[in-house]
Formats: sequence, C-alpha cells, structure tokens
Amino acid sequence: MNNDTIFALSSGHGKSGVAVIRISGQNLSDFAEKILGRFGVEPRHAYFANLRDNAGELIDQCIITYFTAPHSFTGEDVIEIASHGAPAVINKIFEFLSENNMRMATPGEFSRRAFYNNKMDLADIDGLAALLDAQTDVQRKSALSSMMGRDSAIYDAWRTQMVEIAAYSAAILDYDSDDLPQNIGKTIITKTTKLYREIDTALSRYAAARAVRGGFNIALVGEPNVGKSSLFNAIVGSNRAIVSDIPGTTRDVVSATLDIDGYLVNISDTAGLNKKTNDKIEKIGIKRTNDEIKNADLIIHVYAEKPSTSRIADNEIVVVNKSDLLKTKPNKNAIYVSAKTRNGIDKLLNIIRTQLHKLTDGFESALVINARTKVLLETARDELKSATEIRGENYDLISEHVRSAADAIGKILGRITASDVMDATFSQLCLGK
Ligand code: GDP
Repeated sequence: MNNDTIFALSSGHGKSGVAVIRISGQNLSDFAEKILGRFGVEPRHAYFANLRDNAGELIDQCIITYFTAPHSFTGEDVIEIASHGAPAVINKIFEFLSENNMRMATPGEFSRRAFYNNKMDLADIDGLAALLDAQTDVQRKSALSSMMGRDSAIYDAWRTQMVEIAAYSAAILDYDSDDLPQNIGKTIITKTTKLYREIDTALSRYAAARAVRGGFNIALVGEPNVGKSSLFNAIVGSNRAIVSDIPGTTRDVVSATLDIDGYLVNISDTAGLNKKTNDKIEKIGIKRTNDEIKNADLIIHVYAEKPSTSRIADNEIVVVNKSDLLKTKPNKNAIYVSAKTRNGIDKLLNIIRTQLHKLTDGFESALVINARTKVLLETARDELKSATEIRGENYDLISEHVRSAADAIGKILGRITASDVMDATFSQLCLGK
C-alpha cells in the first residue's frame, strides 16, 4: 500500500446543497492548520472556514472537520470538507488539493486503507457495499448489521473453533493418550459435525440473502393475449415503484422494481412461452423469458379462461385472468383475477406477500451471504464434511480438512487472502468510500 494523501467526493454527484470531500493520509495536521488559518486544530470539531487556494483566493465557505489517526474511517488522518455542492466549487477544491501533493482516490481506496489499518475486515466491507446499495428498509437493516461486525463475529467464532479442533487432532498424534482429555476423538467428531451443520444451515439461507440483496424476482409468464401486461400494470400500479423501465417492444422483457413491505421486488412481464419460432428477434425474447423463469423466486403463470394442468415449475402460482368474462370459477388451485375490474388483484398481492415472507422469514438473524462468501462457505462446509467422513484413527487427515475449512473462513474475513479476492471486494465500492 502507498502512503499518498488521497481525496475524493464522498457525497453523491450532481448539484446539491452540500458536498463532502474526504481526504485521507498521514500527518494532515499541518494541512488542517493551513486551511483553517489557525494553530492547533481540535480533532472531531466542526470549524467554519473561508477556504482559500494557494494564492489566497477564496474558493468557498466550508465546514471542515479533522480526524486524527486512528480515530477515523480509514484509520489515517482524515479531513472532511463540507462545501457547497456546486460542480464548480468541487472542481476548484480538487484542483487546490492536487496542487498540495494530493491525488484523487481510486474506487474503494478509502475502504482498502480502513482494511489495512484494521478498522474493517472484508465481511464488514461487504456489508458497507450492501448498505450503499440499499434501496429498501430491510436491505438497510441487514446491510447495517453486517457492516457493524455481526457477520464477522459469527465467522470469527467458527474459525476459532476450527483452529481448536485442528489443534486437538494434531495433538492426538503427538501426545500420549494419558496426557489428553478423555474421549478427545469423540469430541473432535461431535464438534466438527456441529460446525458442519451450522454452516450448512447458513448456506441454506442463501436464497433469502440473495432475495434481500438483489430483490425477490417475480416473472409473469403465459401465452400472448392472456393479459400479462395488463396484470403487470395492475400489480405495479398498486405498489411503490422504485425504478421503472419500460422498453418499447412487446417482445422484450419489461420489468419494474417495487418496495413491498420493505423488501425489494423485481417483477417482469415476459414474452411468449415455449413457442416454436424461426424469427430471430422472437427467439431472443423466448430465451430471455426462459432466463427470467430460471431466476424467478415466484412465477405467476397467467391463463385466460381455462388453466392447463401442466406446471412449468414448482414455484409457480396459477392465475386465471379475465375472470370478468367467466361465469364459473371451477379450478380450485387457480387464483381468479381480472386486470380490467381489479377483482382478485388484492388476493394475488397477498399471495405474493406470503411467498416473499416465506422465503425471507428469519432472515434478520442470518448471515449476509454474497457470491464471494458463498463459495468460501461451501469450501468450509465440504472440508468439514470430509473430516467427519474419515474413518479410523486418521487424525492427521481430520486436522488437515478442518484447517482448510478454517482457511476458507479466514479468507471471508480477509485474514488470509489473495489479492484478487481483495480487488473484487473493494471494487464494488464507489469513489469516495
Ligand atoms: P398479454 O399479451 O398477455 O400481455 O396481454 P395484454 O395485457 O396485452 O391483454 C390482451 C388483451 O386482453 C387486451 O385487449 C386487454 O385489454 C385484454 N384484457 C386484459 N386483461 C383483461 C381482463 O381482466 N378482462 C378483460 N375482459 N380483458 C382483459
């Protein structure tokens, strides 16, 4: 790591009332005194200042706070300049900082320094990245506790137990059995099995973690003209839409992002289903539909009039639309709705809610698993399983497997880590973090 003094805009881009520019480096007290025009700057004290460039010309009126190492985000000396949020002001401050031997930070560089200075481990940084992405309340809560060390504490406890088991297993080989605790062999197996189960359970919550972080995916599928688009509009219209993106062609997948009970929900209206076609564009549409089905947590299979009995997936619910045109509702397993009269729409929404809660129930207390940590948790789980399957007195083998599991958990935290893992972790952060 280098010792350069770095800076970046930590607040959002675009015109705003206030912009926060963060500077991090070593020994910034002289610079703090210079820009504040005073001797002796009290840390963590907000000073009002007329910020001037090297020539003494006024740049802007700012609030400046100085943090001394290690009591800062990065663990280094940090200065935060809160200026007016005009692009011209921000550019002028950047120019001024560059003239004072500082450089623009690369994405995630502040967090990288926080990591190297032991302010955060990789699990905390994953939590920070999730928090910066959070759009709904459930996302905010879950990311916040992850960032504040809840996940790290769980990983740490697992790793400590693994190191202990590995040490005991190795000790069996080196010590006389009279010098070791009774039943040590049995204890090793019991403890390893318990850890295996805990990690396996955590992994089984991955679908919930993914749904909270990336959104609960709902796909509307069915033959053309059954009223999918009309239903899509009815569902989206009665919920809080976060972003909506409606491309022009009906052959494409149209999707919207909603906030339902604090959960992020992605709903998409798909093109034709399993149709045979030679039309190139239609083929692409069908491929996209199949992708949506594969990624869906819930499939709403829409029919008009009579539903077919064949299901396309286990996680589908059967909906019969245009019920306003029907005299009877004979199918017990189908939900009858009318996008036109809105009859049955509330019932359908309640079913969506139930499925959403079923998947994410108890999630608050679960680890926030992402693609990176999932792979490492799987390695740990598989190593522990291999350890429990070893027969006979092969304690050296058990020790080896459990130690590999401990290494995998260590990688989650960044205790033992390859630089590519680090790059992937930090690059998910934007500039200024
Ligand atoms: P899609 O091709 O499955 O997306 O179907 P659309 O939403 O475009 O609807 C096809 C036709 O059915 C349109 O003319 C709609 O007005 C009509 N439609 C959709 N929902 C209903 C409904 O609940 N009742 C009635 N009577 N007509 C509907």
